Amino acid sequence: MNTGQKCLRYAHCENMPAVYWRSLRLRVEGASPLGGNEVTLANSEPAPCSLITTDQYFVNTMKISAFSDSHTMHRQVEIPDGDILIFAGDISNCRTSQDVSDFNSFLGTLPHRHKVVVAGNHDHLLAGDPDRAQALLPEAIYLQDKVAVLDGITVYGAPWQPKFNDRACDAFALPRGRALEEKWAMIPDGVDILVTHAPPAGVMDQDGPVCHGCSDLNDAIQVKQPTLHVFGHIHNRHGILNDAQTTFMNCNVQQGGSSLRSALSFQYDPQQRAISAC
Ligand SMILES: [Zn+2]
Repeated sequence: MNTGQKCLRYAHCENMPAVYWRSLRLRVEGASPLGGNEVTLANSEPAPCSLITTDQYFVNTMKISAFSDSHTMHRQVEIPDGDILIFAGDISNCRTSQDVSDFNSFLGTLPHRHKVVVAGNHDHLLAGDPDRAQALLPEAIYLQDKVAVLDGITVYGAPWQPKFNDRACDAFALPRGRALEEKWAMIPDGVDILVTHAPPAGVMDQDGPVCHGCSDLNDAIQVKQPTLHVFGHIHNRHGILNDAQTTFMNCNVQQGGSSLRSALSFQYDPQQRAISAC
């Protein structure tokens, strides 16, 4: 029953490091003993080699948690377990505290397999050389105009936001128009999750009478159509907004006073490019 070819195909899957998947859904020859023509394996389970006729595999739905704007209070944020953790900027307080080292230690205590960090306008210590910023955050995948593919999910991160005024904290702040356009033009096609610190214009971006969102970012999102856009920056807006092409998520944890919001948590199916509640 077990042909060499079938076993070789299984070996291909087996050679894929287990860290890259929680379970595999494999197509099988004819009806499997479990019914249907597919079988799902947990990553600790031996594969029924005789059943496998193709090396196609699918990473099942991933659990993702996202937060931002912890401003040195990261240890007070409730963060659900998951496969991927996303941080969308503002580890620090502007020019007063640069607690990046403790943030990195904190990330090391969390169980998520992948921890993505994008900087914000308060993170002056990370501004400048992205390689140096990555070296300060060895527990994280630091994304500054950079893409990472995590278990089949494409994540792109960029810290830029429109410059507000001369008194504002201005790490990664750029003038509206061409300078920001050029940054957003670097977003590649086919991104599942776009992570920025800044919101797009008109989407959970209002603070008092001022809308801080970036219309140049809206234009890029229209073209690139990421499935999900995660951001923070504007503390008094928070939540999830579904649009036709893209779901928007302001995941900041600051709600005024001393208590913090929890990280937002959701499921992502990279095959369907679909988001669902946990
Ligand atoms: Zn903030």
